[in-house]
Amino acid sequence: MKTTHWQADPQQLRHLRLFRKVATQILTQSLKEFRACALENGELLLSPFNRNQHLYLLVSGELKVYLGSLDNQPVSTLEPGDCVGEISFIDNDYPSAYVVATQPSLVLRLHREALSRLFEQAPQVLHNLLEQFCERMRQGNRIILDSEQNANLDTLTGSFNRRWLEHVFRRENTRCAYGEQPLCLLMLDVDNFKPYNDEHGHLAGDYALCMVAHTLRSQLRPKDSLVRFGGEEFVILLPEIDIEEARAIGERLRQSLEQIANFYSPIGALPGVTASIGLARSRPEDSLQSLIARADRALYQAKQQGRNRLCG
Ligand code: GH3
Ligand code: MG
Ligand code: MG
Repeated sequence: MKTTHWQADPQQLRHLRLFRKVATQILTQSLKEFRACALENGELLLSPFNRNQHLYLLVSGELKVYLGSLDNQPVSTLEPGDCVGEISFIDNDYPSAYVVATQPSLVLRLHREALSRLFEQAPQVLHNLLEQFCERMRQGNRIILDSEQNANLDTLTGSFNRRWLEHVFRRENTRCAYGEQPLCLLMLDVDNFKPYNDEHGHLAGDYALCMVAHTLRSQLRPKDSLVRFGGEEFVILLPEIDIEEARAIGERLRQSLEQIANFYSPIGALPGVTASIGLARSRPEDSLQSLIARADRALYQAKQQGRNRLCG
């Protein structure tokens, strides 16, 4: 990064967010604290391995922010008017992200030591900076939320995964026990799925699993959790449902799959599948593992008795 001679135009800079509502005279004065620097395309501005002493204001060009590694997808793109480096600038620690110029760019650089002077001269700049800072925090929280939600989903079928099951079981088991409500679990395994794959191909098997998940999910309440437990096995957690009702629900789910003789997929019409189901009701002493073990034993019985049936 090279410092460069740059003739500031206060009228143009007033449109940048950091200087919004700052009087021209104060802005002209404040600009003396900044140094202009030019960045080439691909040049690294910040990295978690280098301590940062500056706040940067992007005047022209484009910067991208990467978390963890430069091989990841960028988490945000910065445009003229955006600040960068503000976290490490304020707490004097290492940056939490990589920031790279993705076009030839011009930034204005402010050293930490000039900060208090700048805020005294132009309190509005502090206000503008805090506003951007809060927006960044909110954006960061949204990214965390999105990645948390994705981390709970099975990518093939869109059902929840085992990680979610562990979380939701803890929550629902406590909630149902507290309200003296029952909690049931169904363990469902697609029948003869290996021959299905062998005959129609693995891709057809994938579509069949998606069809199964869709068929099951469309019949459940929002508070029920459909979980892809692994391979061609699904777990359904049914809070506030007693054993007789759970049996009726499981039976209805089983029949709805049985009734699908063919379904449409992107590779053409494919035959449907059947499933065997094991049912168990939660007991006060149960852990998720012991409840699943009982449902699994019931499922084994259903398989032994000829498949396409519910036991438990
Ligand atoms: P059973 O009726 O006793 O359950 O017989 P099965 O053939 O369904 O049981 P088995 O455990 O022998 O085979 C399960 C098959 O499920 C084998 C595996 O290739 C297939 N499978 C597991 N996960 C997936 C997947 O994500 N996609 C596809 N297409 N197949 C899968
Ligand atoms: Mg299986
Ligand atoms: Mg199976």
